[in-house]
Amino acid sequence: MPTTTIPLPVIKRIALIAHDDRKADLLDWAQYNRVALSRHILFGTGTTGTMLKNELDLDVHTFMSGPLGGDQQIGAQIADGGIDFLIFFWDPLQLHPHDPDVRALLRVATLQNIPIATNRSSADFLFSSPLMDVVYERKVYDWPARLQRERVLEAVHLPKSDR
Ligand code: PGA
Repeated sequence: MPTTTIPLPVIKRIALIAHDDRKADLLDWAQYNRVALSRHILFGTGTTGTMLKNELDLDVHTFMSGPLGGDQQIGAQIADGGIDFLIFFWDPLQLHPHDPDVRALLRVATLQNIPIATNRSSADFLFSSPLMDVVYERKVYDWPARLQRERVLEAVHLPKSDR
């Protein structure tokens, strides 16, 4: 699979999201990491982002609330290269009306190979990594190159088994 390298800068564009039952935990984690967070560019779904702004006085760009499309907006930003880090305190014990959006968000974040923390210990490990302080060479599947290659192979009628 061809890959392309996209640098993950030292100042990261971090999206923060928490489902309702995980908001208190995210707030506590963000309070502990407030100084580190303030060095980055922060985004959040509506309620989570507003909570972090109001409670911790952090500068957070807020999207719509998650159930109204905020997860999709963040997913679109990740696909476009506008967000490169995801902290998503996700609630595995409840069904949500926007579960398909959550799945799509995690899919696109995985596809784009950005760091993802879905619980507190992962967020702690990510934030204490020495990689936080350097430019990281993020490898992303080069889908356009792959599609182009498949089109060329199709054009010369090479069977899939011989590619
Ligand atoms: P919220 O959305 O921050 O607006 O509550 C989070 C979510 O449920 O995805």
